[in-house]
Amino acid sequence: MTKSQIRKDYFKDEYVIIAPNRAKRPHRVGTIAETTGICHFCPANFANETITYRDNNNDGDWEIISVINKFAALTSNNSSAYGQTEVIIETRRHGLDINEFSLSHIVRVFNAYIDRFTALKEMNGIKHVIVFKNEGGKAGASIAHSHSQVIALPILPPKVENEAREYGKYRLEHLACPYCDIIKNESDKPRVIWQDENIFALSPYASDAPYGVWLLPKRHIRLISDLTRSEKESIAIALKIVLGKLDEFGISYNYFIENAINSEDYHMHIKIAPRPNIWAGLELGTGVIINPISPEYATKIYRGEVKIENDPKF
Ligand SMILES: [Zn+2]
Ligand SMILES: [Zn+2]
Repeated sequence: MTKSQIRKDYFKDEYVIIAPNRAKRPHRVGTIAETTGICHFCPANFANETITYRDNNNDGDWEIISVINKFAALTSNNSSAYGQTEVIIETRRHGLDINEFSLSHIVRVFNAYIDRFTALKEMNGIKHVIVFKNEGGKAGASIAHSHSQVIALPILPPKVENEAREYGKYRLEHLACPYCDIIKNESDKPRVIWQDENIFALSPYASDAPYGVWLLPKRHIRLISDLTRSEKESIAIALKIVLGKLDEFGISYNYFIENAINSEDYHMHIKIAPRPNIWAGLELGTGVIINPISPEYATKIYRGEVKIENDPKF
C-alpha cells in the first residue's frame, strides 16, 4: 500500500487517514531523561504509602504492590476533584520492563489489575474505573520502574459513553457483538498479529495509532475479572510479542483495558497505543488522525516478516 486511504472504524463514526508514504523511521520520543534522584517505586525507598494490594514473593517480600497516590489529580478527600488514583508497581526490580517478565508474573500483574478494578468500582460516588499503563520507552541510559495505574473517576467520560452507545447500536442492528464480528471477519485478513484458542491480536483496520494493536478475548466476556487463568496466560504471550517489539524500537506506548461500564453487555479488550509520533494540527483541530504506518505493514513488523535494516520506509 503506497497511496493514502481514508478508513472508517469497524463500527464507530471515527475516521483515520492511513498515509504510509509519510512514513519515516520512528524516532525515539517520549524517553524519560536520566534522573539522578531516588526512585520512589524501589522497595528501599518506600515510606508511608497506603498499600491496597500486596502479592508476596517466596521470601515474604512484596513482589507486586498497589499504593494510593496521595499527590494525584483525583483524591478521595477532595470534593472538588473526587476520586482515587492507585499505582500498581509491577515488580520490585528496577529497570525490568513488563515484556521481560515471565508469563506467570504478567498473570499476577493482571490479578492485581482485577483486584483494584473491582474494589474501586465499589467506591461511593465512582462512575468509571480505568486501568492503564504508560511506558516511556527504553532508549539510551534512561530506565524507569515498571508500573500501571488504576483511576476511579466520579464522572463517566464521554469517550467511554460513546463507545458503549455505538456498541449497543451495532448490537441492535446486527444482532451480534461488533468485537465478536471483528474476530470472525478479520481472521483471514493480513492484520492478524498472533492468535491462539483464547486471544486474537490484531492491528485494527482503521488504527488511530501507528503500530496500534487490539487484544480481543475470543470468548465474549464483559469484564477483566471474567478472564480465566488460561486467557490471562494468552494475554501475557501476546503482550510479550507486541511490547517486546516496541521496546526493541524504543517506542513509547500506552495500553488500557476497556470493560463494561455497568451491567450492560460488552466485550472487554485491551488496546495498545504506541506513541512514535506527535499529533499535528489536523489531528488537534479535527480529531481526524493521520497514521503513517498501515496496519498491514505494522502486522508484518510484529510477525517479524520485515527486515528493518533493509526497509526503505525506515
Ligand atoms: Zn525503582
Ligand atoms: Zn463479543
